[in-house]
Formats: sequence, C-alpha cells, structure tokens
Amino acid sequence: MKDVQLVAEAMRAFGLLPGKYAYRKYGDGHINDTYLCISPWGRAALQRINSNVFKNPHLVMDNAFAVTRHIANHIEKEGGNPRCGTLMFIATRDNKPYYVDSNGDVWRATHFLEDTTTYSRAEDEHMLESAAGAFGRFMLMLADFPADTLHETIPDFHNTPKRYNDFLTVLEKDENNRAASAKEAVEFVLSRSDKVGLLVDMLDKGLLPLRVTHNDTKLNNVLFSVKTGEAICAIDLDTVMPGLSAYDFGDAIRSGANRVDEDKAKRGDFSMKFFEAYARGYINNCASVLTQNERDVLASSACLLTFECGMRFLHDYIDGDKYFRVEHTTHNLQRAISQFNLVADMENKLSQMEKVIKELVKNTK
Ligand code: ATP
Ligand code: MG
Repeated sequence: MKDVQLVAEAMRAFGLLPGKYAYRKYGDGHINDTYLCISPWGRAALQRINSNVFKNPHLVMDNAFAVTRHIANHIEKEGGNPRCGTLMFIATRDNKPYYVDSNGDVWRATHFLEDTTTYSRAEDEHMLESAAGAFGRFMLMLADFPADTLHETIPDFHNTPKRYNDFLTVLEKDENNRAASAKEAVEFVLSRSDKVGLLVDMLDKGLLPLRVTHNDTKLNNVLFSVKTGEAICAIDLDTVMPGLSAYDFGDAIRSGANRVDEDKAKRGDFSMKFFEAYARGYINNCASVLTQNERDVLASSACLLTFECGMRFLHDYIDGDKYFRVEHTTHNLQRAISQFNLVADMENKLSQMEKVIKELVKNTK
C-alpha cells in the first residue's frame, strides 16, 4: 500500500479526517516519521514508530502513556494547562492508545504544542540551562511515579559493567584485527575497569533510588517556546524506562557540555560554563526530590556516562561497525577517542564539578 494511504488510514483511526483537512511531514526527527495534522478539534502530531528500532512498540507506548498521564495530572493539580506543558496522547476513535495499520506499523498521536521549536545545539548557556529545567521538571513530576511498573524496553541500557564485559569479549576475539590499531583507546578503557560499577553497585545496594528516566536527554528532545525562548517540556519519550537520575544527568552533560561536534572532532572540549548552566537548571528544578547520594554522584555520572558511550563506539569499531552507521573505517574509533578525551578532561575537573553541584544544592535550600 502507498505511504499516503497508510497516513490517511492512521489519520482516520485517530479521528483526524484525512482529505478534508491537511497534513504535512514535520520536524527533523531521525527515528520516527512525524506528521503535523489538522483536525476539527485542533492540531495533532501523528507519528509512525520505527519498527526497526523499537521491536516492542506497544511496550514503548505503555510507558509513554503512563508517564504523560502522570505529568498531566501534576500540571492540572497545580492549576496549569497540561496541553501547554507536556506531550499528551490522543486515543484512537475506539479508545486505544495507538493504532496498528494494515502494514503492521504502530502509530500514535499527541496534541500539537503550538509555537514551539527544537534546537540541535545550545547557542548559549542559557538555552542549555532552560533545557535542563525541562528535564529537571520531568524528574520532579515523576518522583512519585512507581518506576518499577515501567517496561525495561531496552534491557541493561546503562548497565556499564555488562557493557564492559561485552567489550572484553569482542576485544578477546578481535575478529576484524582492529584491536592493534586502537591500542591507546583500549588501554584507556581497561585502566578504568574499577570505575564501571559505580552506579549499578549503588543501585544494587539500595543506595540510589530507581527513577523514571528519559534516557535520551539531548537538547533537541526539548520543545522551546518561540515566543518566550524558554523550554516547555521534554519530548521523545520512546526510551522512558526505570533507571537512575544519574543516567539522565550524566548523558545530558556528555552531549550538552561538549562544545565540539562529537561525531567528527578528534578531541573533546568540555566546558565548565555549560556544565554549570545545565547543573543549575536541573538542580533548581528537582533538588527537592534528589537524595543526598543522588546529588553526590551527579558529577561522576557525567564521567561514567561519557566513558560508557566511548566504550560503545570502541566496541563497535573492534566488532566491525555492526551497530552505529559509519562513514569511513575509523569513524567509530574517532568517535570513541573524542569521548575519551572528554572523559579525561572531566576527570581533571571533577573536584571543580563537585564543588559547583554542592554550591547549587546549598543555594536551593
Ligand atoms: P529523534 O531523531 O530525536 O529520535 P524522533 O524521530 O524520535 O526524533 P521526536 O523527537 O519524537 O521524533 O519528534 C520529532 C520532531 O517533531 C520534534 O523534534 C518536534 O519538533 C516535533 N514534535 C513532535 N511531537 C510534537 C508535539 N506534540 N508538538 C509539537 N512538536 C512536536
Ligand atoms: Mg527527538
């Protein structure tokens, strides 16, 4: 069946009346197909979930539905309008959370948040601080949500010790004879073996609480108001899962405080100014629900999550580029080195980073 027919079929399922009302492709997402649709009751963002990436889209949708409903309740209780402050899903005409089309693809629809935009790179510190506020509020409003009821749609996503062991396995096999060309990067990983368990061990010992985590806390997953320039809310809830606050914070710092293109640069450039801006936006919004241990591991989580990301690139390089799309043979190695340079820079600045966090926490009390 032609794509245009499938879109029409999905629009009908959500009461979006194809034909009579317009629709067009929307946004710059790389994973799902997004359409902006007009309906008699307002505009909607209609999305077809990428079934190559998400093998269990109905579980992804269960998670996203549950957390957005919870956030909407919070906003309502505080006297706000949820339609302006969170993604809100629209049920199908037969009251289902998503629609499966005749091709077997899963569709969902959300109320369109008007006058909004996304940014791929923070133009200044304020933009990053504002985005951090959106992720901080996400954490705050979901602090009373039972995280263990969510599906773990990507098992062991941030299980760094497991990823480390998997790395050792491919290194041992070295099927593509690439390990020798990555000697320094391999050394970098091996010399930090004692650090990989930091977060998982604390979780296992009950020292860190299980939280609802977003797991893709990059800048372009925050909607900004084009009128005020401020962040409105976190979007792209496909990777929402049970996890640790440190995962979301650490990964946001990895991408947000690095001032060079992580895909191309041969070195990382960690900015304390951008780190502080993100930390301020985050802590100002959710310090009240963070436990002392959670606050204490924020700075080192940035190192660990950056290390984990670099290790995944290096793993894929040695494994023959099976996971990440590459443009040349050393692309994954280059990406890994860029992340490891960032880690080294963060390690040098760790005590400064910890001091910043302490100050920010003190000032919110
Ligand atoms: P990514 O490449 O980040 O994984 P994706 O393909 O998963 O993206 P989303 O991030 O969910 O897609 O959405 C793509 C774009 O559509 C967003 O960047 C945003 O601009 C827009 N968008 C999605 N939902 C809405 C909404 N309800 N209101 C306004 N804009 C929206
Ligand atoms: Mg996105």
